[in-house]
Amino acid sequence: MRILLIGSGGREHALAWKLAQSPRVTQLWCAPGNAGIAQERLASNGAPVQGVNLGAEDLTGLRSFARDNQVDLTVVGPDNPLALGIVDLFAQDGLRIWGPNQKAAQFEASKVFSQRFMEQHGIPTARAGTFADFPAASRFAASLGGRCAVKADGLALGKGVLICRDMAQADQAIQEVLVKKAFGGAGAHIVIQELLEGMEISLHALCDGKTAKLFPTAQDHKRALDGDLGLNTGGMGAYSPAPFLTEAELAAVGASILEPWLRGCAAEGIDFHGILYPGVMLTPTGPKVLEFNARFGDPETQVYLTRLENDLAELLSASIDGTLGKTELRWNPMPSVCVVMASAGYPGSYAKGKPISGLDEAARLPNTKVFHAGTARAGDQIVTSGGRVLGVTAWAKDLRSARDAAYAAVETIRFEGAHYRRDIASKALQ
Ligand code: AMP
Repeated sequence: MRILLIGSGGREHALAWKLAQSPRVTQLWCAPGNAGIAQERLASNGAPVQGVNLGAEDLTGLRSFARDNQVDLTVVGPDNPLALGIVDLFAQDGLRIWGPNQKAAQFEASKVFSQRFMEQHGIPTARAGTFADFPAASRFAASLGGRCAVKADGLALGKGVLICRDMAQADQAIQEVLVKKAFGGAGAHIVIQELLEGMEISLHALCDGKTAKLFPTAQDHKRALDGDLGLNTGGMGAYSPAPFLTEAELAAVGASILEPWLRGCAAEGIDFHGILYPGVMLTPTGPKVLEFNARFGDPETQVYLTRLENDLAELLSASIDGTLGKTELRWNPMPSVCVVMASAGYPGSYAKGKPISGLDEAARLPNTKVFHAGTARAGDQIVTSGGRVLGVTAWAKDLRSARDAAYAAVETIRFEGAHYRRDIASKALQ
């Protein structure tokens, strides 16, 4: 199988690493990829994974590449090309591609769409309203005592959610998003949700249009600093499983979300092939969906794919073909922990081009994989080229050992200004 993978982050390195292990994969390109992806070799024939100099949003360029190179399967990592309709564009040309089409990608691309869908189809979620003008939005926030999450409707690089704890904050957030358009057109409409308290977890389900196969739990760490302080980031670390639900509870939570979701998709003619990733708050009154994403999480993918035992190329094919019902997902019971090493200043502005040392030493550690995110090659050196630089991932017999192994690997790696959280997985270990 000749595969084109789209994206350049830690998630894509994990996808490339796992796809490269498949005996079916005979050629793998990644557009645009990163320095770590370019170091992977295919298990089937030893061929290197090849970088392609095309951006993830160059839809027509990617389509031409897939056509000209007889690509059998294109795998889409990030959300933007999905929201732009890459799956529809490829399908028009009869090109096989994995990910939700534009209509299905609305679960992530539009919070107004998702909130309406959840309410209409009985998916447990926060009390919420959708607004296009300040006075009505402010009145609704007041009905919640100002304790709310103000969310821009559209994609806003993960920054379009403002958490408010009183009316002054709520009015300011509504002003910012709706009136001052801090997130541009993404904020033409907003969703305001009641503020939910509880433990937040990530769920992932692989879907084939009819069936949704639930993954084990994971937990992300969104804030930049220890103790969930500092600014929101793309994610500073993750681990799986997150031991806040028993297997039976997870199955019940999954069913309470996925069964009405599948029925709703059928009723609305949404043919979802891909990953549905609900962010869920475990509240005292039950689990509630905060939002849906329509792709693999980053850094959840790094911990999931170091546990997944199935052949990923086969799973993604089954997700396209609608044959997941016949497939059993198999997971290594060893917990996995990913610690993200970031550039100084991230999630604000940061310098690039800092040489990274210690990668070879880390690569020799057992049950450890260093996934690259923002890295590039400069001569014979690997240097930083993004905010999140590496996702240092390790797995072991229990979560504590996996956490210790991940941090031991982090200790071997150096670059100027590197920062990382020291409390990844600590909520589960307390
Ligand atoms: P979202 O992109 O909608 O998941 O929001 C980003 C983050 O904001 C989530 O991961 C939560 O930590 C937080 N958040 C979103 N909605 C709520 C809510 N209704 N109550 C509490 N926290 C929330």
